[in-house]
Amino acid sequence: MVKCPKCGKEVLTPVKTWSIPSRKAAKKGEERKLVMGIFECSSCKARFRAAVTAEIETEETVSVKNMVERIKGIKGELMHTLKNLRGKIKTLETERANLMIEIGKLKKMAESKVSALEGEVNMLREEVGSLRDLLGYTEESEK
Ligand SMILES: [Zn+2]
Repeated sequence: MVKCPKCGKEVLTPVKTWSIPSRKAAKKGEERKLVMGIFECSSCKARFRAAVTAEIETEETVSVKNMVERIKGIKGELMHTLKNLRGKIKTLETERANLMIEIGKLKKMAESKVSALEGEVNMLREEVGSLRDLLGYTEESEK
């Protein structure tokens, strides 16, 4: 069943038919032939060529192809998003590692500063003690 290209009326039977080997079918390894026909519109008497059998199949194939393309598109988008996310994760992981290293450095710096201060304080204590000794304040300060 085909539609008249001029007026859109459905034409049921072709005036003449012939078959041609279908390339699509040949690719799939099927021995099917595409049947073509000359139709005459009962309404406007226009004559036109159209495929007789493979029409519905072709429409289905087209819709499946469209769907496949759409799925491919969605998959592509997902892959792109995934790639972006992977990149972000990698960047964040690198940043975290760098921060951990920096924290470690700061910790060491703080620790060395603490020990330096402790050493300095001890030295000052000793100095204060020796000054007290020198001035004879030892007994008073000990109380
Ligand atoms: Zn017509």
